[in-house]
Amino acid sequence: MLPWVVRRTRLPLLSLRCVGCPSESATTGEGRFRVNANGKLLDVWLLVRCVSCDRTGKLTVHERVPVRSFDPAELHGYRVNDPELVASRLLDPLLARRNRFTLDWTGAWRLDTPTALLDEAWPVQVEVVFEDPVPVRPDRLIAQGLGLSRNEVLRRIKCDTPLRRTTSSGFAFTVMAGD
Ligand SMILES: [Zn+2]
Repeated sequence: MLPWVVRRTRLPLLSLRCVGCPSESATTGEGRFRVNANGKLLDVWLLVRCVSCDRTGKLTVHERVPVRSFDPAELHGYRVNDPELVASRLLDPLLARRNRFTLDWTGAWRLDTPTALLDEAWPVQVEVVFEDPVPVRPDRLIAQGLGLSRNEVLRRIKCDTPLRRTTSSGFAFTVMAGD
């Protein structure tokens, strides 16, 4: 079984309507949180910036949550803008739903494949692993990874996962020998 790995190369942009200009694209930049204490309650936001006019916006991460219910390590992460915490919050589907944005993964990920495919005996089995939840269409990913046309992919690939349905879950497929 050959391993293929899908991983992000940077944080994805956000498809999010700007309130100051017609742009619908925002970035978290280096990733900054803002923590605001209101008595014993905390608000935590993740700051975003319009890529066109630089206007700053806030995504609600936590709203009026009692200080004592935070894990101290997590709270520290918010205060120091821990990059891992920025990534995990940004990629959390709950944050996207709550703040009404979608992630734009264009140019923000790559597919790592071993180069040994030509020496393998046919048929070849490949397992695709997702290190990050990048939405991909399996037929396009396989075509890219094998350097095949999408028609060839449909002809030579056996796969239990629907090839044309976008997924971020691991799957496996078999490549049959060509003509
Ligand atoms: Zn703007």
